[in-house]
Amino acid sequence: MPMARALRSICVFCGARPGLNPAHVTVARALGTAIAAEGWRLVFGAGDVGLMGEVARAAQTAGAPTFGVIPTHLMGAERGKHDLSQLVITEDMHERKKVMFINSDAIVVLPGGAGSLDEFFEVLTWAQIGLHRKPIYLLNSEGYWNPLIALLDHIVAEGFADPSVKGFFTAVPDVPALTNALRTALS
Ligand code: AMP
Repeated sequence: MPMARALRSICVFCGARPGLNPAHVTVARALGTAIAAEGWRLVFGAGDVGLMGEVARAAQTAGAPTFGVIPTHLMGAERGKHDLSQLVITEDMHERKKVMFINSDAIVVLPGGAGSLDEFFEVLTWAQIGLHRKPIYLLNSEGYWNPLIALLDHIVAEGFADPSVKGFFTAVPDVPALTNALRTALS
């Protein structure tokens, strides 16, 4: 009997706001739809706000399983979604990030603010010290993350990080490029 293929889970970190450029909303929806089309599960912050809500609604509409993780105190502010395949309510932000991470095979970072940066740097620094080898992708919609990439180049040039830090993540320009990269990484 053929072995069933394991369900692959994509953790998406992104803004709890939609941002001002509608192109980012379009990309968020396209990502949700692509996750469903590939037969993957969405792991996310369980909120129905901003780009996070856009990814989740698109993924649900297209039939993807959804795994949301949110701390109790954000259930109101981030409009915690109850209509998910699985909803985990954590005590704090640390536990939220940990539960999202351990239930994922790859991490994707869409445009976002300080929270998304925190989430990106946590998984990047964990990779840097050898705690995991899960692939991390910056979805560089409209070049949104170019200043972040330039900052990392600056940090390397100033001798505060080894150049290998750039090898722990991949910047991709759009959802088709991301999907191709994920397919290869997860096969
Ligand atoms: P933002 O990119 O600032 O819109 O935040 C994106 C998501 O990150 C939101 O769901 C925030 O609740 C979450 N977030 C903000 N700070 C943290 C943190 N320290 N740890 C985990 N998640 C956070």
